[in-house]
Amino acid sequence: MAKPVVFSGIQPTGRKHLGNYIGAIRQYVEGQERGEPAIFCIVDLHALSVAYDPAELRERLYDTTAILLAAGLDPERCILFRQSDVREHTELTWLLSAVTAHGDLNRMHQFKEKSAKQRELVPAALFFYPVLMAADVLAYRATEVPVGDDQRQHVELMREIARRFNERFGETLVEPEHLIPEIGARIMDLQEPTRKMSTTGATEAGTVYVLDEPDAIRKKLGSAVTDSGRDIVRSPEKPGVTNLIDVYAVARGVEPAAVEREFEDKGYGEFKQAVAEATAEFLAPVRERYAELRPDEAALERILSAGAEKARAIASATLAEVRDRMGIGPHR
Ligand code: ATP
Ligand code: MG
Repeated sequence: MAKPVVFSGIQPTGRKHLGNYIGAIRQYVEGQERGEPAIFCIVDLHALSVAYDPAELRERLYDTTAILLAAGLDPERCILFRQSDVREHTELTWLLSAVTAHGDLNRMHQFKEKSAKQRELVPAALFFYPVLMAADVLAYRATEVPVGDDQRQHVELMREIARRFNERFGETLVEPEHLIPEIGARIMDLQEPTRKMSTTGATEAGTVYVLDEPDAIRKKLGSAVTDSGRDIVRSPEKPGVTNLIDVYAVARGVEPAAVEREFEDKGYGEFKQAVAEATAEFLAPVRERYAELRPDEAALERILSAGAEKARAIASATLAEVRDRMGIGPHR
C-alpha cells in the first residue's frame, strides 16, 4: 500500500498547551514514521485572524518551532516550515474560494465562537480561515491530517472543497482523511472541564503549558475541578474526572480502563497528585530539550527555510496544475 502523505498545521499564537501536545503534536511525531512525506507547518498567516502583536508573533513562531523539535520532529524525517514562506498557500486560497460555499463558511463553529470573543473588530480573516486551511492541506495532496477533535468540521469542509473542485475542473485534488487520536482528542480546561483547553479563551489556571515547570503543573492539576461523587470513572456526568483520566492514560501510556482500576478505591486528592506527577514527567523532556534549542534562532531559521524549499517544490507543482485547470495564465 502507498504510504500516506501526512500534513498538519499548528498556530504560533501563545504557548502550546497540553491539549495541543496530546491531541496534535504527539501524532505528528508518530506521523513522521508513516508519512511520505510528513509535512508540518507553523501557520503564521492563520495567527493574523485574531488580534495580535507583530513583534510577539515572530517570537512565538520560534517558540513553536523549538517546541516541535523538542517534542521529536526531525527535519531529516519530515518537512517543517513556516506557512508564509510558501506563497502558494495564499494563491491557492483565492483559487479555492471560487469553489467554497459562503454558506459552508457561515456554519463553522470555530468562527462563531472566536468571533463572539473579538472585542473591537471581527476580521474577515477569521471568517475566511478555513479556506486558507484547506489550501494548506490540498496544496500537498495530503491523505492524512492529524488534528484534535475541534478540527473535525474544518477537515470536512476541505474535503467538500476538493470534491467541488474536482467535479468542476476535473480530478486534481485529494480528499484528505482526518486522523483524530482515540484518547486525548479533546483535552478540557481544568477549571471549566466542559470547554476545551485552548490558546485563546481558556482559563489560565485551567491550562497546562508544555513548558510549565513541574511546580506549576502540580498547582494547576492540584486545583483541577473534579465532579460531585467520589468515583474515579469516565462518564459524561463527570467531565472533570474523565479529562484527568485521559491525561493520565496518555502520560503513562496505558488504557483509560486501567486507570479506573488503578484508582478504584482511592480518593480525588491522591488521584490528582498522581496525574500531576505523571504529567510533569511526561512534559519534562520536552521542556529540557526546548531550553537547549530555543536560543539558537539562526539554527531554527535554517531548519525552517530548508523545509520551505522542500514544501514549495510540492506546492508549486499542485498550483501549476490547479491554475491550468482553472484557465488561469497561459496554457502549460
Ligand atoms: P486557538 O484556541 O487559538 O484555536 P488552539 O489551542 O486550538 O488555539 P491550534 O494551534 O489552533 O491551538 O491547534 C493545534 C492543534 O492542536 C490542532 O490540531 C487542534 O485540533 C489541536 N488541539 C487544540 N486544542 C486541543 C485540545 N484541547 N485537545 C486536543 N487537541 C487540541
Ligand atoms: Mg485552534
